[in-house]
Amino acid sequence: MRENDWTRVLGWPGYKVGRAEIDEPAKRLKPWVRRKRGNKRLICSGCGELVSAIAEIYEREVRDLPWSECRTTVVVELYRLRCPRCGVKAERVPLLPSKAPFSKRFEDAVGLACESAAARRVALQFGLSTNTVRAIDLRYLQRWSESRRKPALRNMGVDEIHLGKKQKFITVVSNLDAGESLWFGQGLKKDTLDDFFEKRLSPFQHNAVQAACVDMWDPFRQSIEQWLPKCRIIYDKFHIMQHANAAVDEVRRAEFFRKGGAARTVVRGKRWLLLSRWVNLSTQKKRQLNALFALNRRVMKAYLLKESLDRLWNYTYEGSMLRYLKSWIDQLRWQRLKPMEKLADMLLNHLEGILNYCRTKVRMGVVEAVNGNIKALLRHGRGYRNLNYLLLKAQRLAATRTEFVAFQKAA
Ligand SMILES: [Zn+2]
Repeated sequence: MRENDWTRVLGWPGYKVGRAEIDEPAKRLKPWVRRKRGNKRLICSGCGELVSAIAEIYEREVRDLPWSECRTTVVVELYRLRCPRCGVKAERVPLLPSKAPFSKRFEDAVGLACESAAARRVALQFGLSTNTVRAIDLRYLQRWSESRRKPALRNMGVDEIHLGKKQKFITVVSNLDAGESLWFGQGLKKDTLDDFFEKRLSPFQHNAVQAACVDMWDPFRQSIEQWLPKCRIIYDKFHIMQHANAAVDEVRRAEFFRKGGAARTVVRGKRWLLLSRWVNLSTQKKRQLNALFALNRRVMKAYLLKESLDRLWNYTYEGSMLRYLKSWIDQLRWQRLKPMEKLADMLLNHLEGILNYCRTKVRMGVVEAVNGNIKALLRHGRGYRNLNYLLLKAQRLAATRTEFVAFQKAA
């Protein structure tokens, strides 16, 4: 192979291959790479300005994409510059964006692989440690995030997600129009959300937020009212139905506790059945639920009440929504279902925010989708100790999914 051909295979603009070492049994390739003679643009990595004075020439070894079956390590000749502004600094090379010993295109390949496989799998595939793969993936995502346009925030969602025993709960702010998470904060306090409004949004952006879908959680309401003067608070279906499910579960536990023996075995393991919607259940599962209901009328009543509350959002006119809610609450009378009565009180106390559903046009399903995205990530990847990494991962997942949908539509 002629030198010239090596350079063409390398494909780095402005660089050429001087010589190459091939270790055939080990399948390793090591090309030495230098700047082409005409390539004189030297840019300081400190300030990004052109610099002409060279302080030193040195070599760096970076892992590059494999050339055929060979694992390839490129030895690149680089300059340290004498910058009049920054002093002695390394030159900036677009193909080598980080100090880690990998080329940009190698990191891109690893990052891309991480989009559809767990870090452990990718580590095996590339012969790297899992920690190295995570570090590369993080840089890949950061570069992607810096390069893209950030969508404006008009309709936001505020959520809580349980990360685990150690990190407990985090507050998740999402952009409902873009369908992606925007920010994570440790804890669920008013201060947590205040921090986002104060540090991440300008006064102009505060004014631009029109609606927020949140849970009926007072600290969030207080923070939103303080920072977003034009924002309508919506207590959305997703969050309210979570409370309804919790109420059904409380009834189940109370009933179950009183009874022993045979009844206990029928009720055991039926928790998720009670949390599912009737229409989503198979015939067999419906039969199982019916067996449970035959045994306990109160659990059945609670389940039916939850099912009928779900229809509240079929109404898009305030008056009809309110009428339906009142009739739903009337059904609770004489039932002696304490958890359901508590839920009814909560709904009455947050009535304006529930009816706001009729007064705004927010894509409601997004709240649940964004939440589901993060939970899927948490299930598949282990150890997101770095919240920023988890956030970038969730954003990338949301962005690639929409790109995929857009592509499908065009085709
Ligand atoms: Zn400089």
